[in-house]
Amino acid sequence: MDAGTVTRWMQESSASIGEQREALTALDAAIGDADHGTNMNRGFSAVEAKLTGLDGATPGGILTTAGTTLIGTVGGASGPLWGSALRRAGKALGDGATFDDAELVTALEAALQAIVDLGDAEPGDKTMVDALGPAVATLKGQVDEGRPIAEALAAAQQAAEAGAEATIPLRARKGRASYLGERSVGHKDPGATSAALIVAALQRAVAAETP
Ligand code: ADP
Ligand code: MG
Repeated sequence: MDAGTVTRWMQESSASIGEQREALTALDAAIGDADHGTNMNRGFSAVEAKLTGLDGATPGGILTTAGTTLIGTVGGASGPLWGSALRRAGKALGDGATFDDAELVTALEAALQAIVDLGDAEPGDKTMVDALGPAVATLKGQVDEGRPIAEALAAAQQAAEAGAEATIPLRARKGRASYLGERSVGHKDPGATSAALIVAALQRAVAAETP
C-alpha cells in the first residue's frame, strides 16, 4: 500500500460522506444540533481538494495534511477528533513510501488512541469510538492471524457497522447528545455512523488494488 491507497481512502470517504450527508445530519438532528453531515462533508471535501494538488507526498504526509485540513475546516467536535486521528495515523506511518498490513493496523490504533486522548470517550459512551474501536480490534485480530488485508478490512467494516448499530440503545455520555440524557436512547449515533463509512471507504480503497 502506498500514497495512492491513502489518497483513494480519502476520496472514497469524501464521496461516501457526501452521499450520506443528509442522513448523517438527520441522525444528528435527533440527538445533537443537526450539523454532522454538513461538518463531515465540508471537511472531507476540503481534504479532497487539498490532496488533488499534492504530488509526491508520502502516505504519512497525506494523512497528516488531511488531518490538519479537517481541524482547519470543521467547527464541530468531529473535526478536531478526526483531524487528530488522521494526523496521529500519519505520524505513525512515518515517512516511508509504502506501508504493510501491520503498519496499517498500527496507524489505525494510533488514530483511535488520538480520538480517545482528545475526547475521553470509553466504549459504550455512544460515540464514534463505538464503531472505530471494534473495527480496529477486528482488523488487528485478522491481520495477526495472517488473513489477507482486503478480507481483514471487510471484517473490520462489518464490525464498524455493527458497532454503529449497537449505539442505538445506548445512552450518550459524551458530546452534545449527552445533554439529552435518557432521551438519547433509541437513536443511532451520527459520529459512529460516519466512522463506519470511513472504515468502509478504507476497505474499498485497499480492495481496489488487492487482487
Ligand atoms: P458537534 O457535536 O460539535 O455538533 P458533530 O455533530 O460534527 O459535532 O459530531 C458529533 C459526533 O461526534 C457524535 O455523534 C459523536 O460520535 C462524536 N463525539 C462527540 N463528542 C465526542 C467525544 N468526546 N469523543 C468521541 N466522539 C465524540
Ligand atoms: Mg452536531
